Amino acid sequence: MSPQSESGGGEWAARLEPLRTEPARAAILTDVDGTLAPIVERAEDAAVPAAAREALAALSERYGLVGCISGRRAEEARRLVGLDSLAYAGNHGLELLLPGDEAPRPDPSIAGREGEAAAFLAGLDGERLRAAGLRQEDKGPIQALHWRGAVDEAAAESCAHEVANEGGRAGLEPRWGRKVLELRPVGGGGKDGAIASLLAEDGVDRAVYAGDDRTDLDAFRRLRELREEGQLVAGVCVGVLSAEAPAELAEESDVTVAGLDGWLEILEWLAR
Ligand SMILES: [Mg+2]
Repeated sequence: MSPQSESGGGEWAARLEPLRTEPARAAILTDVDGTLAPIVERAEDAAVPAAAREALAALSERYGLVGCISGRRAEEARRLVGLDSLAYAGNHGLELLLPGDEAPRPDPSIAGREGEAAAFLAGLDGERLRAAGLRQEDKGPIQALHWRGAVDEAAAESCAHEVANEGGRAGLEPRWGRKVLELRPVGGGGKDGAIASLLAEDGVDRAVYAGDDRTDLDAFRRLRELREEGQLVAGVCVGVLSAEAPAELAEESDVTVAGLDGWLEILEWLAR
């Protein structure tokens, strides 16, 4: 089947053709959870399907750069994806783990402030968070509060908003994802920063990035800026749609696909 018939008009095939014709100068960048790996009730149970891993492995042999940009720790993203040949920007860009790196490089912009979010949460009433159904995940400089699967998700989310306000007053930056609040030191990282540092490392001049959530909009924005500044001859933002996708995702995408299978179809097409 041709990509035109598979993609209902071939919009993405036309946009991505410049990458496929010059793979050595192209970067294939992707979010992990909700984009490669299906969202599951508990983040630690997530898995990247074998077909996606195989497509990424094939891409990494032909393309200039293949990388994952994730809210997870960089080493955790690499374990989940299972490929050492890719680059990983973890913790929304606060950590960079390039192929062959033993340990991630931290973002120097938050040096000395890595413990601020953990110290803030340790100072709250832990029983209040637990009673509301919030589960804390320790990601080093970023502390996450999850409420997916809580007995009363609405009550848990409402408590998360209170914590976000208190965190903001304590000098932390709250960021929202799919049923998760993350607190982080102000000013570091971001998926926009991750896009810029990954593309700078390899000097590629065309790139695609796919994501499913609010933090991915930062990556979209930076990719568009690089395109408008002429640093990229092609930059394609792919929105992976789901029932939980924020409304802006479709608005700010160049191309949308219906779920993870749609992005996998594009990865396999790029690898052919
Ligand atoms: Mg995601």
